[in-house]
Amino acid sequence: MRQPETLRERLAVVRERIARAAESVGRKPEEVSLIAVTKTVAPERILEAYEAGQRVFGESRVQEAAPKIAGLPSDIEWHFIGKLQSNKVRKAAGLFRVIHTLESSSQLKEFEKLAAPVDSLIEVNLAHESQKSGVLPESLDEFWQLASQCKGVRVRGLMTIGPNLGDPEAMRPFFRELRRLGDRFGCEWLSMGMSADFDVAIQEGATHVRVGSALFGERPG
Ligand SMILES: *Cc1c(COP(=O)(O)O)cnc(C)c1O
Repeated sequence: MRQPETLRERLAVVRERIARAAESVGRKPEEVSLIAVTKTVAPERILEAYEAGQRVFGESRVQEAAPKIAGLPSDIEWHFIGKLQSNKVRKAAGLFRVIHTLESSSQLKEFEKLAAPVDSLIEVNLAHESQKSGVLPESLDEFWQLASQCKGVRVRGLMTIGPNLGDPEAMRPFFRELRRLGDRFGCEWLSMGMSADFDVAIQEGATHVRVGSALFGERPG
């Protein structure tokens, strides 16, 4: 098969990969939500994906996302997947349907002030990477308790980014571990898997995959 060239073709390829991965473990493709990650992607390209049928998009910076969201169709479901500074919580809550990166009590203090709860996932730093954010696995019990008591968030599940190992199979133990933690807390959602490894993540139970470069090409920088 020739390389997919248009965004529409790339979307079809990614959706096909999602379906194949789900079916390989007896899951339904509809159980997996594709989040098209559009950080650094221009609004015109996002609109192109929208016109090809994509409705769920992810951004990682509030500042960058705000004008894009304002200018794009209002039936898009926006997910926040970047590091969330406490002083941006209020703004993020107004813009995004789902926050994937709960990780600190200072964020929770800001969520507490909101009028209505926001669907959220707790980010877990499974590999104890010092440069990455997220709650360490051994602190998850305590943070889960804290987040569950916060009336500004509705905790729906867990999210992880995972180490960059360059081999999708090498990620499997991390995805499996997030699934195990998710089961322990009775999570509905698991946000795991990116362009290089979402097939494996789906086999291990991902309900949300975050896919950027496989759709929009490599990012600058
Ligand atoms: C950028 C980003 C992605 C998408 O990564 P790709 O490898 O381009 O698919 C997924 N998750 C998070 C948290 C990101 O920041």
